Amino acid sequence: MSLEIVQRNLLNILEAVADAVTVSSATKRCRLVAVSKTKSAEMIESCFSQGQRHFGENYVQELEEKSAALASKCAEIRWHFIGQVQSNKISKICNSPGIWCVETVESEKHARLFDKEWSKHGASSSPLRVLVQVNTSEEENKGGIKISEAPKLAEFIRKECLNLKFDGFMTIGSFDNSHTDGANPDFEKLYAVRKSWSEITGETPESVELSMGMSDDFLQAIQQGSTSVRVGSKLFGAREYKK
Ligand SMILES: *Cc1c(COP(=O)(O)O)cnc(C)c1O
Repeated sequence: MSLEIVQRNLLNILEAVADAVTVSSATKRCRLVAVSKTKSAEMIESCFSQGQRHFGENYVQELEEKSAALASKCAEIRWHFIGQVQSNKISKICNSPGIWCVETVESEKHARLFDKEWSKHGASSSPLRVLVQVNTSEEENKGGIKISEAPKLAEFIRKECLNLKFDGFMTIGSFDNSHTDGANPDFEKLYAVRKSWSEITGETPESVELSMGMSDDFLQAIQQGSTSVRVGSKLFGAREYKK
């Protein structure tokens, strides 16, 4: 896909996001995380030049390579790690320049490891933002913590992980639910998780993010309260995987 088309897609998606926010009764804001996995640094740079700042990667090696390649050219880039976390890759994620948010924390163990790793960055750096990934669709092959345990993990991060900033909840949801018309039950569940967290803590729900919605369902997700949509193929074109 040419850079011109990607730039045009970006403007179209940003406009669609803004329009959806205007009519949504469940959220007043929503940012776009451009999911650039398998796509080139050049494509990322062309979106950056149009003002896009948030980008998402789900393979550690790609995050490492692209964040290093773009560190000086795109200094204000904000990387989101959206892949499954493996303990032995946590230091690589934390050492990627411009890492802004890890969206896929699903256990106290990983939270502790991120906390410890980020503490090495010294008092001068601000806390690393993390989202608690919730397995709303309860599928075995999907990452994320159980719904009933999500608020507790969020509180663990807030109370025990001083180098981290708990910044909200994230879900992927089931394929079927994102390809069926009408309200998506996975999005409803994530919205309810944030609400129960808010009731437990006394914090307002809107003070943290709800990361839900991808290429096929980001408008529906905004209607249901998403504050952060993760869009890949609709922006950059279909992904090709090497065999
Ligand atoms: C790949 C990916 C996306 C983007 O998917 P598209 O359907 O291409 O928009 C969003 N979130 C996660 C966690 C992903 O791995």
